[in-house]
Amino acid sequence: DLFQPERPNSMGFDLGHAPTLAAIDAARAPWKSHSWAAEPLLAKAPETATTTDEPVRNPADLTTVGRVQTAGQAEIETALSAATPWNASAEIRAEVLNRAADLYEANYGELFALLTREAGKTLPDCVAELREAVDFLRYYAARIPAEPPVGVFTCISPWNFPLAIFSGQIAAALAVGNAVLAKPAEQTPLIAHRAISLLHEAGVPRSALQLLPGAGAVGGALTSDARVGGVAFTGSTATALKIRAAMAEHLRPGAPLIAETGGLNAMIVDSTALPEQAVQSIIESAFQSAGQRCSALRCLYLQEDIADNVLKMLKGAMDALHLGDPWNLSTDSGPVIDETARAGILTHIDAARAEGRVLKEMTAPQGGTFVAPTLIEITGIQALEQEIFGPVLHVVRFNSQDLDQIISDINATGYGLTFGLHTRIDDRVQYICDRIHAGNLYVNRNQIGAIVGSQPFGGEGLSGTGPKAGGPFYMMRFCAPDRQKSED
Ligand code: NAP
Repeated sequence: DLFQPERPNSMGFDLGHAPTLAAIDAARAPWKSHSWAAEPLLAKAPETATTTDEPVRNPADLTTVGRVQTAGQAEIETALSAATPWNASAEIRAEVLNRAADLYEANYGELFALLTREAGKTLPDCVAELREAVDFLRYYAARIPAEPPVGVFTCISPWNFPLAIFSGQIAAALAVGNAVLAKPAEQTPLIAHRAISLLHEAGVPRSALQLLPGAGAVGGALTSDARVGGVAFTGSTATALKIRAAMAEHLRPGAPLIAETGGLNAMIVDSTALPEQAVQSIIESAFQSAGQRCSALRCLYLQEDIADNVLKMLKGAMDALHLGDPWNLSTDSGPVIDETARAGILTHIDAARAEGRVLKEMTAPQGGTFVAPTLIEITGIQALEQEIFGPVLHVVRFNSQDLDQIISDINATGYGLTFGLHTRIDDRVQYICDRIHAGNLYVNRNQIGAIVGSQPFGGEGLSGTGPKAGGPFYMMRFCAPDRQKSED
């Protein structure tokens, strides 16, 4: 039936409906001052504990949200030696993953509180993140390939989607029957711990799913041990390259690496674009989630004859943004993840200011690791040496005869994650989209977000290895079809 989706996505919540909003507020209220604790979740206890106790801070006000025991040598060794592929039938694995999705939804109040207090997420971002996590669990559960697992998979995730990306990698690896060693980002261990606890509660055996919180070194150990069969990684391109080198040295030849990495994402707005629509898309793409999305807009190309008008409207729209504690329902943009991130972004803004290239600055809220949305003028995307992971938008003016050069400059960055286009000329949509190298293209809308099953997400070139997450080919990389053939 064309009108009945094969597997509907999670409903999420209608945040424009006052009773729904009140119900969400009530569900998260008990967790407003709760203190969580995270620790390694292993199949068996190590002989001696080598964990280190550390506080976890709320980036909005630097208060302590909880504590984490990070994994040391003994916990890593125990996890590696105890990891056992999930030897249940595909039907049972699917049933357990679906049950986990239900548990995620049932615990939304706590998960929203964690996403806000540990990762600085606004409520709309929390809703989108939970939906995506649940969608991943159900989507992979519904499409388990009849292929054997690789064995042990290390899953390493970033802090900017600490529930959705973390759960998506794990769900795909588990659905196929792999054992998973999960290494969350060091900034977001509490939500990772809660998610793994819910997966265990749903019925995933502890030997098939272990959690190892800690810094990058834990990830380093889990990607350079011959007992690991494959790695799923989401994070920066620089870390992906380190992991690839470690795997080449220590893992069996051909061990799969699924890497979803960074981007230098551009948008072109030409003089036929609808200015109000373009401005809304630009604001959402550049500043929602404080610019901390891999898909976020970094470099905006404005056609010269509309540039002044769009910039004027854009500055007005920036002034209307509410910056502050993401727990407040009126907040549009919260803090960046930590002081290291803030300092790096401010260094970039300071350099632009010294060169007189800052077009718009605002005052950042005090008390947490906030960076105010900022506009910086540049001559072209080639002026950006690296992804600035925060609410900083670079603007370039162009003339229509520059279009081919712009396309070539965007492609020459080597990244290829998202690309946005605002135009009313159909032929131009076709012309540009045929030539831009980007995994996800967005026309006359914002360029953030993806829908599991309908709009799989992933980049090319320096932005990722593919296949796209939430798409039909993703799970095949977690399988070992050759093993089946050689055993047949
Ligand atoms: P990151 O610094 O690369 O860290 C990602 C993960 O890798 C973290 O868990 C990190 O641990 C771990 N890690 C660090 N060094 C490692 C090593 N040598 N070996 C193994 N693991 C190691 O990235 P991030 O700052 O957390 O995340 C932001 C980046 O992710 C941006 O570049 C963004 O574009 C990208 N991203 C891409 C996508 C996508 O779908 N393409 C989605 C989201 C984010 P620690 O946290 O402890 O350092």
